[in-house]
Amino acid sequence: MASNAHPLRANTDLPYLGGYSPTLKGQAQTLLDQGRLGDLLVRKYRAPHEVRSDKALYDFTQEYKQRYLRNAGTINKVLFDNKIHVVRHALGLHTSMSRVQGGKLAAKHEIRVASFFRQGPEEFLRMIVVHELAHLREKDHDKAFYQLCTHMEPDYHQFELDTRLYLTYLDHGGEPLWGGGR
Ligand SMILES: [Zn+2]
Repeated sequence: MASNAHPLRANTDLPYLGGYSPTLKGQAQTLLDQGRLGDLLVRKYRAPHEVRSDKALYDFTQEYKQRYLRNAGTINKVLFDNKIHVVRHALGLHTSMSRVQGGKLAAKHEIRVASFFRQGPEEFLRMIVVHELAHLREKDHDKAFYQLCTHMEPDYHQFELDTRLYLTYLDHGGEPLWGGGR
């Protein structure tokens, strides 16, 4: 039975879209098959951002934190990390350490952003930075978490979907659209 050759094709081929509806996955698969996914993305997000260094990323992140999460502890470090493999839900990493400092508990936060985001549209970078910042307040990916994300960036969900579509496009052999490698 030829139809059984790839019984899980749709699922295994689109790991970055695991959380989305079958309808959406079907649409993404069609765009991939027609070779239109890259075109669609590059027309929507034309220019790559200029946030290339860890210092620039720190400043970029700090701007959002100051605006929306002023009282949520201190971020000690923000960096691009090429050891983070962007799969499924792990697009970035937020670590938090509590330690006693001068008699009171002080939280130290570190945000690592996958190097994938170094070259691409500012919207994708903003999405991941907002996501990691939201973890300062909310640990889980629950309703409160996503409310905080969309408070900081109203188009959060669209940018996350488009980031995942771009990852899917690269995963299927597409050439990088805004420079750089994978
Ligand atoms: Zn998260």
